[in-house]
Amino acid sequence: MINITNLHKSYQMGKNSLHVLKGIDFKVGEGELVAIMGSSGSGKSTLLNIIGMLDVANEGTYTLDNVPIENLDETKAAKYRNKFLGFIFQSFNLINYKTALENVALPLYYQGKKRDVRQEKSLEYLEKVGLKKWATHLPSELSGGQKQRVAIARALVSQPKVLLADEPTGALDSTTSNEVMKLIQEINNEGKTILVVTHEEEIALMCKRVVRLKDGVIVEDTLVNQKKAI
Ligand code: ADP
Ligand code: MG
Repeated sequence: MINITNLHKSYQMGKNSLHVLKGIDFKVGEGELVAIMGSSGSGKSTLLNIIGMLDVANEGTYTLDNVPIENLDETKAAKYRNKFLGFIFQSFNLINYKTALENVALPLYYQGKKRDVRQEKSLEYLEKVGLKKWATHLPSELSGGQKQRVAIARALVSQPKVLLADEPTGALDSTTSNEVMKLIQEINNEGKTILVVTHEEEIALMCKRVVRLKDGVIVEDTLVNQKKAI
């Protein structure tokens, strides 16, 4: 599904350049649930943003579902992003003045889907995350965990091939984090490929595979249950 070889990324800051990713080789197959671990500043978000086509690498190759991701103009990148990827963020990124249902419906609106289709699909996905009754509520009327579940429904509504989550439990208490991760596990059990960036060990251990970044390279790649290097 994801195939990355020799990926490098530097940030230019004036005269200085910060070499964040220093030759990443990383493959993810369909149906995997992978945690990307590492301390703050280790390049987790940078890697996820490149995978999400929100940023570009300086060197290396990246193919997503056998499509080479390189030299894309913004229109094409946006098209692939909509087709392939769903995003979940630490801060939920919901639109405050829109209801839960309207937030979930937004990707369908951008895809030009008709109103009744948007309504029906959005309700279906709200039900999936256990929030059908909350459809008409605004984000300000929802708890953190509920907001993240709305964001998960929004990420799923366009049926992406891969779900990318950057610290999805970073703003939640441990009980709620656990609930959100259980939902992510359920979605993975239905076959969705999911990448979760986290710096929390407990969260990583709820995934099937843990990849650890340090000093710009992958220093560990382990299957969680078997505890075996791959
Ligand atoms: P993580 O998500 O693991 O905390 P990041 O990928 O966000 O790490 O950042 C890795 C390093 O790159 C950090 O030192 C950060 O300050 C730097 N960095 C991230 N984004 C930018 C940017 N847009 N410009 C300059 N430096 C950046
Ligand atoms: Mg980060």
